[in-house]
Parts: sequence; C-alpha cells; structure tokens
Amino acid sequence: MSQIDEIKSRIDIVDLISESVKLRRAGKNYSGLCPFHTEKTPSFIVSPDRQTWHCFGQCSEGGDIFKFVMKKEGWDFKEALHHLADRAGVKLEPYRAQKPEEKEEHERLRGLLEEAVTFYRHQLVNTPAGKLALDYLHEKRRLSDGALETFGLGYAPDSWDAALTHFTAKGYREQELIDSGLVTVREEAADSRITHHASRTYDRFRHRIMIPIRDENGRMAGFGARILDPNDVPKFLNSPDTVLFSKSRLLYGLDRARKPIRAANQAVIVEGYMDVIALHQAGFENVISPMGTALTEDQLRLLKRFSRRIVLALDPDAAGQAAVLRGLDAARQSLDREGEISFDARGLLRHESRLQADLRVATMPDELDPDEIVQRDPQQWKSLIKNAQPVVIHVMGALAAGRDLEDAKVKADISAQVLPLIEDLPNPVERDTYRQRLARFLRVDERALISAQARGPRARRPMPRAETPAPEQAAVTAPTHSLSPPRSPSQRIEAHIVSILLRRPDLLYRLDRILQEAALSRLLPEDFEYTDHQMLFRLVRQSLEQDAQDADQYLNQNLPPALAGLTDELLANSSSLDPLDNRLLEDLFRGVIKIRRLGLDESINQLRFLQEDAQQQGDLRADSYLEMVSHYRRSRNALDQASLKLTEMRQE
Ligand SMILES: [Zn+2]
Repeated sequence: MSQIDEIKSRIDIVDLISESVKLRRAGKNYSGLCPFHTEKTPSFIVSPDRQTWHCFGQCSEGGDIFKFVMKKEGWDFKEALHHLADRAGVKLEPYRAQKPEEKEEHERLRGLLEEAVTFYRHQLVNTPAGKLALDYLHEKRRLSDGALETFGLGYAPDSWDAALTHFTAKGYREQELIDSGLVTVREEAADSRITHHASRTYDRFRHRIMIPIRDENGRMAGFGARILDPNDVPKFLNSPDTVLFSKSRLLYGLDRARKPIRAANQAVIVEGYMDVIALHQAGFENVISPMGTALTEDQLRLLKRFSRRIVLALDPDAAGQAAVLRGLDAARQSLDREGEISFDARGLLRHESRLQADLRVATMPDELDPDEIVQRDPQQWKSLIKNAQPVVIHVMGALAAGRDLEDAKVKADISAQVLPLIEDLPNPVERDTYRQRLARFLRVDERALISAQARGPRARRPMPRAETPAPEQAAVTAPTHSLSPPRSPSQRIEAHIVSILLRRPDLLYRLDRILQEAALSRLLPEDFEYTDHQMLFRLVRQSLEQDAQDADQYLNQNLPPALAGLTDELLANSSSLDPLDNRLLEDLFRGVIKIRRLGLDESINQLRFLQEDAQQQGDLRADSYLEMVSHYRRSRNALDQASLKLTEMRQE
C-alpha cells in the first residue's frame, strides 16, 4: 500500500470535515453548509462511500481529503500530505528537496563525465596505446565497433595524470575532478612509485577499458573500468560513491534496456557489463547488470518499475552462485514479503510490497559466461532464459550440489534454508506444491518438514485464540498496515486509467481523439476525484506537451517524490498488461466512460437530497438543482450512447 493510501485508510473524510462543518445525514451521504462560500442552505455533500466531498453551489467542485485541506488551508499537496500523515500517525521520511545550487553542481559534474566519455573514447579509437584495448575488445570479446560506440566504451591511458592534465586545461577545478571520481587524492603515506609526483591528486583509472555507467534516464553517473594487464588488481574498478554514483542504486544498461524490458515484460539480470553489451549486440536487449555486487533492494525497486518478471542469469562459478544466494535475500525482502513496509528509493514514501514478483534463475551450462553462450548460439540463450527455474527449485539444487543427500545433517541443513523461502510465498497452493517437491527432493516425509518448520526459529507466532481475546491482545495483533483501504469503484477505475497512462503516455492523445469522435470532451484533470490521481494525470499531460525529452523520461524526472511510492504501485499493478496491446486504448475509453458515469450517478443522487431540502426551506435554488439534474441526465445519456456505439463498432 502506498503511503497515500495508508493515510486515506486511516482518516475518515466524515470525521475530518465534521471538525469544521456541521454535517447531517442525507441518505447514505452527509450534507452541510459549504465552508468555502457563504450560503444559508446546504449545497455541500460528503460521501463516506467514496471518501469524497462536493459543493454543488458557487464552488462547483470537489475532491478527497487532500483536496479538502489544501483548499481550506491554502496548502500545496506536500503540505497537506505532511499534515494528514501526522494526523493519521503515518511516519513520512523527511523529504529533502534538491537545492538549485546542488542541481547546478550535479549538472556540471554530469557535463564533466560526458566529456570524460569523449576523452577516453578518443584514447581507445585514435591512439596507438588504445589499439591494444581495441584489439582485446574485438578479438577476445568479439564486440563490434557499433556496439562499442553505442555503449561509449573507451580506454584510460597508462598514466598518472592524463585525465588530470586534460581536464585541468579545460578549466575544471581539482575539487570537481575529485567529486566526479575521475581523480583520487594521494594519501600522505603515498605509494613510493608516485612520491616523485608533485600533485596531490592523480588519475583513478589507468590502463583500463572504460565503461560509462548511466542512470536509467541515460544521464552519466560514473565509470566501470576493466583491467587489460592480467596482473593488475582489481579486475573491475568502479567510480567511488559520489553524488551521482551509488553502486547500490544503479543498474548497468538500464537506460537502453528499459523499453525492451517493458515490451518483453521481462528483465534479465547478468553479472558483467561485458555480458550486457554482448547480449545487446546479439539482439537481446532486456538485459542489465548490477555493479559487480549482489543485488540490492534499491536496484530491484528500480527494476520493478519496468517489469516484475525477473530472470537472474548467473555465471556457473562459485562466486555467481554465492551472489544468487545473497541476492535472494534482498529479492525476498523487497518483493515477496507481504505487508512488509520498506522505504522507496527516493526515501520519502514508505510502501508496502504486497505484489509478488516472478523471480527465476537461469544457470549457464558448461562453465560458460552469458556472452560466450550468446556468441556461440543465440538460440541456446533463448531457451536458457525460457527454462529459467523458480527460485525455490533453483536453491534446492544449488544447496545440494556436491553433497550427500543421504546424510541426515545435509537434509536438515537444506530444508532449514529452503523452508523459509517456501513459507514466504504468498500463495498457499504454491507453498503446498513446493513443500511436496522439497520432500520428494530430500526423500523425507512431508509431515516431517512441516513439524521441523514449526520448531524452527522462524516459526510463525500462533494465532491468538478466538474465544476470549483480552482487549490489549486484540489491539496488538490487529494488523495496522496490511489492510487494504476500502476502495470505491471509481477510485479503482481511476487508478487503472492512471496506471495505463503512466506506462503508455502516448495513448492519451489517441484517447482524446476517440472521445471527441464520440462527441465527448477529452480527458480532463477534473475527471479524477482523487488528488493523487489528478496530479499524476496532469503530469502525463505535461509530459506530452513538452518535446525536450521522451515522455517516459520526463515523467521519471518530474515525478514529485511524494507520489513515487504510489507510482511504483500503479506501475506494478499494470505490469501484467501488454504495453503493445491494442485493447489498452479501448480499456482506457471504457474506464473514462465508467468514472464519468459513476460521478454523474452520484451527483444526481446527491442533488435529489439537496433539492428536497431547498424546497422545504423555500430556497430558490431548488429549481437550479432540478436543472442540474436534467443536465446531468443528458450527459449520462450521451455517455451511454457513446459506449453503445463503441460496442457496435467492435461487433462489426
Ligand atoms: Zn461551495
């Protein structure tokens, strides 16, 4: 659940508004005098079902709890969010906006790194020293010039100050070179080889192949650097952690892989940068790699924006296996555990990962790395990925490899490691199946597994007995955050519309066109009753009205941090949709008709009560309410005709 939803589930709109407006029952709703304009008879309605309010008088607008406090206090969304989170007892991570001078500094560092890409590339392509590196890439790695250019590979010369001198001459300050990670500060007790050097800084990357690392939006973040001389260590050297480079948050190749990942609805994780490049070269573009360490939660959270179907394709060596087993833990924490609250990458919105990921493992055969396999036989790569196994099954095999399965201790050890994975699966049928498979695999009785689990340290706490729970006990065991908020149909449909548009912003114009062809107005922010949906919709519209960037990229960069958690969730909800499916447009169209119709039904119903009230009190507005009702009825007819027409068209 996103933090916004959590707040909504804990604050009842009737309670909130009652504090400043005297409400009285009107059917299933409540009515009162509008707090935003002066009036003698009520034109203000609050709906507990929808958790919304509406003024049918002078204001003629409405919304949810956020909109109410925003309008009442003159706050923006962020201020309203803080206030309501406080009231709901939901803890928000403090949000620290990026200051303009920080932004400027980041831009300058990115500019410097872009120039570094050009510098290293020149060294690779145009210098005799670079020729050695180029030969290695062509012959040993079998990478084409096209692939090298696409990924911007370069060569750092075997020198202590080539980059330092080059960029100092270009006007960069020493501190900027340090901040970018291109040069390193010499420690006092310096290596004897460099004591002759007068400068206190020197090039970090020397005699290495340089691999530019970009964030998911294609902006430079740092470098990965691979040795050419087998005697050098380490084999891979990354940029240090800088303001732009955080190795736990970046995924190599994601800027190029994000679209293919969405299109295939599958992401493949490999271990090496070179594997990513080789696979792209072979036409497998939905591939990324972590920064040489185990997968982190931040990386998975980033990835799941594009797809929740993830295959880990790992090298067969021991390091690869260990990395899987380490990575597994992060994967479970971030994706599988039901109700677990975690913080999203932007550090603001706590969100619950109640959606499962489909996580599979593909093991490379014959001691081959992914790049070797794909260069030998692309079809083999395809089938390896297709036959990737669910994590639980893979772990059983990995743990059993080379061990004596007849040994009771080995059996106990394997089941102790695998059972927690199984118990974490949200689906009881799946849990059952895997328990059976584990029992068969270890050749033990399934009941023995279940009792071992109950004794284990991870055993679930027994359910409180139903008969006579003490009040305190009941309060403690009541789940506080795993409950879904009661969502009204219009809230669900709005969320569905927004989730499709976030995935396919380009569909909005086509949607507008078919709405207009059906004599209806194009989709407007006012069509959304819930503030968060409305804000995201505005952002989608804006992303199309600018042409400096891809709509996708614009959305990512301009997303208010307060909505990041919600957006993650919406994207996850729509991850099973095929983004290339033609029916998405029809889905959108029907969704719009539905929310408009639900809104009109609700308004007509609410107006009936207001009209009766006004009539009893001899208020002239009774007539204008009647007029509004007939106006809404006409709009409702127009909607029905439009949707009928669409159905007929589809049948033709
Ligand atoms: Zn009003």
